[in-house]
Amino acid sequence: MYRTHTCGELRLADQGKKVTLAGWVQKSRKLGGMTFIDLRDRYGVTQLVVDAAAPAELVDAATSLGREFVIQVTGTVVERQSKNPKMPTGDIEVSIESINVLNKSVTPPFTIEEESDGGEDIRAKYRYLDLRRPPLQRALALRHRLAQEVRNYLDGQGFMEIETPYLIKSTPEGARDFVVPSRMNPGQFYALPQSPQTFKQLLMVAGYDRYFQIVRCFRDEDLRADRQPEFTQIDCEMSFVEQEDVLNMFEGMMRSMFRNALGVEIPDPLPRMSWYDAMDYYGSDKPDIRFGMKIHEVTDLVKGHGFSVFDGSEYIGAIAAPGCAGYTRKELDALTEWVKRPQVGAKGLVYIRCNEDGTFKSSVDKFYSPEDLKGITDAVDAKAGDLVLVLCGARRKTQTMLGVLRIEMGNRLGYRDPKVFAPLWIVDFPLLEWSEEDGRFYAMHHPFTAPKPEHEKWFYSDRKEDLERVCANAYDFVLNGTELGGGSIRIHNADMQGRMFEVLGIGKEEAEYKFGFIINAFKFGAPPHGGLAFGFDRVCALFGGQETIRDYIAFPKNNQGRDVMIDSPSLIDQVQLDELQIKTCVKE
Ligand code: ASP
Repeated sequence: MYRTHTCGELRLADQGKKVTLAGWVQKSRKLGGMTFIDLRDRYGVTQLVVDAAAPAELVDAATSLGREFVIQVTGTVVERQSKNPKMPTGDIEVSIESINVLNKSVTPPFTIEEESDGGEDIRAKYRYLDLRRPPLQRALALRHRLAQEVRNYLDGQGFMEIETPYLIKSTPEGARDFVVPSRMNPGQFYALPQSPQTFKQLLMVAGYDRYFQIVRCFRDEDLRADRQPEFTQIDCEMSFVEQEDVLNMFEGMMRSMFRNALGVEIPDPLPRMSWYDAMDYYGSDKPDIRFGMKIHEVTDLVKGHGFSVFDGSEYIGAIAAPGCAGYTRKELDALTEWVKRPQVGAKGLVYIRCNEDGTFKSSVDKFYSPEDLKGITDAVDAKAGDLVLVLCGARRKTQTMLGVLRIEMGNRLGYRDPKVFAPLWIVDFPLLEWSEEDGRFYAMHHPFTAPKPEHEKWFYSDRKEDLERVCANAYDFVLNGTELGGGSIRIHNADMQGRMFEVLGIGKEEAEYKFGFIINAFKFGAPPHGGLAFGFDRVCALFGGQETIRDYIAFPKNNQGRDVMIDSPSLIDQVQLDELQIKTCVKE
């Protein structure tokens, strides 16, 4: 037997027991003739001690251990002289009688402890060492727990876990496909799924009315902050459902995940907000509702006072930052520069200080009387001591900027505690999004999303204004300003799916070539259906109170999409290329 206990297990009650432990040497040190060794495994750390009076052989063996040696020891559990209340095993140590070195280790390139001294690149290269660190072990343990919760819950609700293929034909979700050449079909390529969207819908056609899968998805996107080219979704679909059924089902899933993995109760029912309200009041389709500071439109109050910037604007909106009236001139200038950065994109910033004595001071005092300013600040629900921040421009664009500013002020004011959870559903998304640049409509969610039945009349209209009004029974699950998942009630009728492709400017032939299989399937008795998918990596990160998903993925890629540990992507042999009948023409 390699071990009788793990390194996280022994307590004072085990005193006197003879035990065998196995694990990694975290560190060893000599103190007054005694040798202390911290032995680690994924359950914890136990202190081992070799007495000065122990046989010389044992003392030698103990002192010649290096960091990360794998050892097996046998000894007796004894009470510690100086206890360590920070360690669960801190009341005891194991006085050892024998050491068996199972494997030596070269010196690791960074310290393998709670905090490491290694930079990101070196830890990525030696990911298997980084994964020995407790924070990463906790992260993966949480991921495991959440996956089990998902399976338990959905199994209990009659869902079947069904795998769908990875080598498929391109399914558009708005990103680029990764492609895989087919040796047996020279010149032809598979695409890796951006999601199993079409397959889960085909499973509905096939009668598997409750499907789920914890599944890898692949998107060849530019890796903006904290994206991975391969990531995991909790992918689900149901037949004979309306939006209400889907929301209730997955609210239940999230509730049980929060309860069983974190001991946190989320509101029942969860708040819901329409996409339009989210944009109007939070300037974002993923509002962080842990705090207020809502956006208020003040266009009518502000226009017509001779301030040309405002007078020429379609929309003027403001937020009130609590307790910030004391911002100095310098701080306000810095904030103005901040909103002017390309990431925010405002042209300027107008402020109104609501002084504690009831007076106002603004950057546009010339144009507004104290009564005018009071009117504006009242409209924004500002109190004495608050700072009102005003932006203007095109409606949605300005709301988005105010949304970004709101999050920034929320951060500065400490309103965004990662241990506080404020989930909600965003509903009633527009079905389509007009792109000025391309002069065409795009599906806001994806092309399989159905228009709301009551909006079908506009869906079949050829007028742009009508099409812009069509809403979908589409929904997003949002937590703390992050979209964790989304889905919709789908089209299940071949003609309507054809109309959708037409609206999206996809010609009949192209639609037939790319999506013939699903249009055809819809002709064979497709049931009404709908579903959604959650981004599992991000669910894990947020549950863990972290912003980055990388720690919750055992072997992630870096920002260049590289796995630096296995050095991938990489060139392949000429033989492999020849077999695939592929010639590369990459410039050196
Ligand atoms: N396939 C969609 C996505 O990946 C989710 C869904 O509509 O179920 O975003």
